[in-house]
Amino acid sequence: MTDHGTENPLETAERDVIALGIAVAAIILLVGTGGSVLPKALAAIVANGSKPDVLLVNALLLNIALIIFGWRRYRELMREIAERRRAEERAHLLAATDPLTQCLNRRSMVEVTEDLRARSGARGEAIAYCMFDLDNFKQINDMHGHTTGDAVLVMLCDRVRALMPHEARLARLGGDEFAFVMPYPAGQSDRVDDLVIRMFERMAHPFQLPEVTVELTISIGIATDNEAGAQVGAVSDAAALMHRADMALYHAKKQGRNRYFWFESGMEHELKFRNQLETGIRRGLSVGEFVPFYEQQIDVQSGALVGFEMLARWRSPKLGLISPDIFVPIAEEIGLITEMSERLMEQAFADAREWDDSLSLSINISPVQLRDPWFAQRLLKKLVEANFPPQRLEIEITESCLHDNVGLVRSMITSLRNQGVQISLDDFGTGYSSLEQLRSLPFDRIKIDRSFVAELREPGRKSSIVEAIVALGRGLDLPLTAEGVEDEEILKALKTMGRLKAQGYLYGHPEDADAVRKRLRAAGLMTAATTADAAQAETAEQEQTAHQNSNRA
Ligand code: C2E
Ligand code: CA
Ligand code: CA
Repeated sequence: MTDHGTENPLETAERDVIALGIAVAAIILLVGTGGSVLPKALAAIVANGSKPDVLLVNALLLNIALIIFGWRRYRELMREIAERRRAEERAHLLAATDPLTQCLNRRSMVEVTEDLRARSGARGEAIAYCMFDLDNFKQINDMHGHTTGDAVLVMLCDRVRALMPHEARLARLGGDEFAFVMPYPAGQSDRVDDLVIRMFERMAHPFQLPEVTVELTISIGIATDNEAGAQVGAVSDAAALMHRADMALYHAKKQGRNRYFWFESGMEHELKFRNQLETGIRRGLSVGEFVPFYEQQIDVQSGALVGFEMLARWRSPKLGLISPDIFVPIAEEIGLITEMSERLMEQAFADAREWDDSLSLSINISPVQLRDPWFAQRLLKKLVEANFPPQRLEIEITESCLHDNVGLVRSMITSLRNQGVQISLDDFGTGYSSLEQLRSLPFDRIKIDRSFVAELREPGRKSSIVEAIVALGRGLDLPLTAEGVEDEEILKALKTMGRLKAQGYLYGHPEDADAVRKRLRAAGLMTAATTADAAQAETAEQEQTAHQNSNRA
């Protein structure tokens, strides 16, 4: 900013107008009076001629002084204007770029894209709008800190810029989300494919920073304004193009990340369906459509029922009974998983309190829930409110929970275990937990994933993985549960492997609270109080029926 930056611009302008007026008047006066006075004054000085009128000489001098004043003010003004222009340019640049990476920002990218679209369109060229983001940026930040995260973003931009064609422009849309727009000869979309493939190749090289080496992957979504190639109707403006690239990026993420997709119209439907699901989930949660189902857990040696795993179901009036594989990922994504899980837990605690005290209750916990530092406290509070004994509760966490923040997970596990809650490692073998983590984290149980257990199905066939996990469990002194026990063959194989718990369709499909209640009542495994209540209810029902019958008679 200039020194005059704080002055009232109106005042300066007024002063400039007066200064200009004075200077102009002075020049006119000089022309008017100077013609007769100047030669006389010069003659008086140089050749001793007759003296000019003193008054006129004074006026002349005043004129000259005023002209000098006007000239200086004019120069000042020009300098001021130049400074202001520079400041404006800087402000404009700051408003249009991202300060960290020097890329364009989201706002200016719209304008730049529109601009490039017009220019390339005029040349008969198409443009590709490529949106990309990092698949594991949160992890990088959590593990190495935000300074490293920032440095990675800067390096990433340098790598992308080095690959981009000359007219392409790169923007940081926010966080770890970027986009670039590039022209290409219409019909030759393979040019864009080539560039994107080279991008993946560049990203595959680890990012060397002074203290650490970071590895990352990216996902990319691409949209084009070249209708012939896309067969999905015209793109009307930059916003539509960006929206399509965003949908393609979302698709790439859903397909497993570290890949790219061009936008196709199907993606729009996919997203619409997802949005419908999202709305349905929000509504369903508020009206209690999410209910716990229970799957039996059996002691393999004795065949006795030892507990249940709670498995969530969505009883959607529109879609029917929906599996958690569909709604849990969405609930995680839209930040509803904690609320959903807590509601289900409340119901499950109430149900399980009616069961015999010997029966345990297992609950699945999402990695997203474990990111909350207060998770253990919230869970313990729920237990107290429900008056449910912590010793009967087992929580199941998957290996992917351990990547987010092992330190935090360890402290939560410890505080839960201190209260008597048991912790199982679910789906063991499908993730990447190291032996070191297994040793250092105080788990109470390992659950062998059903994909390995299924290998035991073929008679006589040995599953070296299941055997290895069993040996590992024994070595670490950790009890095991085998999931997905579907038939006698599998059970037979498991029986040779020592003490195990098992669950699966052989023992029954997951069922709702009412079905469990009936099952347990038949087995004499409901608490005395509820059995008495049920007996009372049954007698009342019988009496009523008898009464109705006698009335009819
Ligand atoms: P999981 O923890 O591995 O749960 C066991 C899944 O295997 C259940 O599917 C169950 O129905 C299924 N299953 C049980 N026995 C057999 C069998 O013999 N053969 C086969 N093929 N499958 C069997 P479900 O209920 O669809 O649950 C899927 C996953 O959803 C669960 O996998 C669990 O990770 C997650 N989940 C379920 N309820 C919740 C919940 O309340 N919260 C969270 N965060 N996740 C949940
Ligand atoms: Ca589980
Ligand atoms: Ca499992």
